[in-house]
Amino acid sequence: MKNDLLSSVDTKPLRSWPVFGVFALSVLFTFFSIFYQHQRDHQNIIKLATHDAIEYQRMLNGGATAYIHLNRDVAGFFAASDNVTAREFNAYLSSVKALETHPGLGYIGYIPRIASSDAAEFEAKARREFPSYQIHGMSPHSDAAYPLLYSFPYDEGVRKISGLDISTLPERWEAMQQARDQGRSIATEKHAYLKNPDHKNIISIFTPIYESGKPIETIAQRRTALTGFIVSTFVVEEMIERVMGREFKDMFDLEIYNGTVGSQQIVYDGDSQPHALKRDAYLSVHQANVDFAGRNWLLHFYPKPVYFETRANHHDWLILFSGVLLSIVLSFLTWKWQRHQHAKRLQLEHGQRFQAVFENHPSAVYSLDLQRRFINANAKALALLEVSKDKLMLSTPVQFVVPENAAKVEKLFEEVLKGNAVTYDNAIITGTGKRLDVSVVLIPVTTEGEISSVLGIAQNITEQRQAEWKLQESRQMLQLVINNIPQRVFWKNTELVYLGCNNAFSKDAGLLQADEIAGKSDFDLVWKDQAEKYRQVDLETMQSGKARINDEEPLQQQDGTKTWLRTSKIPLKDVGGKTIGVLGMYEDITERKHLEQKLEQMAHYDSLTGLPNRAYFYDQLKQAICRSKRHNSILALMYFDIDKFKQINDTYGHDIGDLVIALFAKRVKDTVREIDIVGRLGGDEFCLIVEALSSRKAAETVAQKLIEAMQPVFQVGEKALQVSTSIGIAFHEPGMAADELIRKADHAMYQAKQAGRNRYELSATLRE
Ligand code: GH3
Ligand code: MG
Repeated sequence: MKNDLLSSVDTKPLRSWPVFGVFALSVLFTFFSIFYQHQRDHQNIIKLATHDAIEYQRMLNGGATAYIHLNRDVAGFFAASDNVTAREFNAYLSSVKALETHPGLGYIGYIPRIASSDAAEFEAKARREFPSYQIHGMSPHSDAAYPLLYSFPYDEGVRKISGLDISTLPERWEAMQQARDQGRSIATEKHAYLKNPDHKNIISIFTPIYESGKPIETIAQRRTALTGFIVSTFVVEEMIERVMGREFKDMFDLEIYNGTVGSQQIVYDGDSQPHALKRDAYLSVHQANVDFAGRNWLLHFYPKPVYFETRANHHDWLILFSGVLLSIVLSFLTWKWQRHQHAKRLQLEHGQRFQAVFENHPSAVYSLDLQRRFINANAKALALLEVSKDKLMLSTPVQFVVPENAAKVEKLFEEVLKGNAVTYDNAIITGTGKRLDVSVVLIPVTTEGEISSVLGIAQNITEQRQAEWKLQESRQMLQLVINNIPQRVFWKNTELVYLGCNNAFSKDAGLLQADEIAGKSDFDLVWKDQAEKYRQVDLETMQSGKARINDEEPLQQQDGTKTWLRTSKIPLKDVGGKTIGVLGMYEDITERKHLEQKLEQMAHYDSLTGLPNRAYFYDQLKQAICRSKRHNSILALMYFDIDKFKQINDTYGHDIGDLVIALFAKRVKDTVREIDIVGRLGGDEFCLIVEALSSRKAAETVAQKLIEAMQPVFQVGEKALQVSTSIGIAFHEPGMAADELIRKADHAMYQAKQAGRNRYELSATLRE
């Protein structure tokens, strides 16, 4: 049992949703973190890419500016000297390492302005230095031609275009005009490469050369002062790839457009992908409008997927793993916390419930510390012990125990401290000195596995004890009574097996002790011959549910004597009314039976003769009349008495008279049939009923026989007496009552007396 008393059914089980909720939230948070991380990563990469793109743009710008500078420097070289030879031109460009320091550069050339009129002279002069030189593709524009004279490097490709009038190509002529008029380097649109037509993205830069010493402020002055151009042609792809390196090509897709938005000509496309597709797939991280060599160049930088891949933060799995781990940990902590809260709530509830139970318990409840001192007690306990709470606290229960039980209680307490609950009955002395019987339960209360206190529950059983004693007493009394009454008492179950009996019964049953009866049946006892009969009666009693009271029955004893028993059988029922057996009682009423018979004899019979007396005879007569009526038979009544009896009395005394009466009666009895009824009506008067006569005559025969029966002398002692009788005969007539019939017979006897006695007379047949 221990402190199970304190635990209770928890109606609110631990809820699982907070744990799942926390887990779900944590997982959600993890995924959100991953997503957020991705977003941030993406932003970072874009930032990085933008930064890289700006850097690349700067490099590109540097690269491009280098071309312009190269052109300008070479133009300056020409402007300073009136006659620059091919050798000087090449030596200059070799010395500045033009090819090495200007990636993508196809060639750089000098284009003199040749007035149409001077063309032939110029051609002849040039041929002296370049034997095959001739101007071809004459200019359609003006009075001048612009043939390529020098170029660096002077290779086979350039040789092909040597002497070509550059201005015949419209995109070049356009740039040349702008360069001339603005006095600065101007780039062409993208155009085909004359040296190698496979190259598509070719750009040329023209830088004008003016005649030194001439004013060149206005366009007109510039046009007049123009002596030629320096042109450099370069392959954009080569330039970009070489300026920005291999990595750029791998990481970025660059698009360069010549012109402003809306009038775009693609100059460079770093990727082979179709233009439109790329727009959707990539994000332009950097766009720039760059003014370069008199043109507006639009730059788009697209970082390639590989850029994102190489710079992406590959911590997803780590985040996921740690996120899930964190989720589990958080869920576990939530569960722990919840359990803790739940336990706290339960404990509080238990505490409250316990307090409520403690206070409202119908018994006296108290707590003891390990030193057996009261530390708490409810109102019932205080009432039981009849002390105030203040007095009770820190006293010990042993102080209330009767001295003879103190040691026992101490022992039991030690048992409780071992962790076992104990129950015992005890006697105590209350605060006011009252002695009470109590039933006590001591329960060890454990806290965290250690016995911390003892809970006691006591119940006042004084009244119960007294009631038990009284019950015991009354039971004993009842047993005493049952055992000592002359009546035999026994009880059986429904199987008719004896459960118990009293001493009187056990004696009848041939047993030495009353308790030997248990388990036996009537078939085991001395009256086994009667057992079946008793069984039937018992079954009938149980089945009917009705008691059979005072059945009188004769019992033939083994010694042949006849005894009488008066028996009662009562069905035994439980509180629910179910039959559970039978209770039997009987007593020997033989003596009383004999007495009754004697009394009956005395009431109905004459003590002198043993014949029915007047009253009884009357009854018999009435019955005989009924029978006669029923059978329609002849019934004769004879009334007779002893003739002159007074003389006998007078002569021999009353006692002799009595003897004569007795002898007379005997002779009458001996004379008539067994079934004929003789009665003594009083004194010396007798009556005889003769039933079922064959004829009236037969009655006379009977009368005659009676008369004759008296003939022999009556021997009374030594005396021989002569006795006679006179008889009156009357026959029963329809409707005649008994007394009337007697009167008639009496009357007939009177007549017989009158007629001389010792004779009979018939009553008149007809009714008077
Ligand atoms: P009768 O022939 O007319 O009958 O003459 P009787 O002398 O017999 O006269 P009665 O019958 O009138 O008298 C009967 C007498 O019997 C009267 C009475 O004293 C006597 N008596 C009545 N009862 C008893 C009795 O019980 N014992 C004795 N010994 N005598 C009785
Ligand atoms: Mg008489």
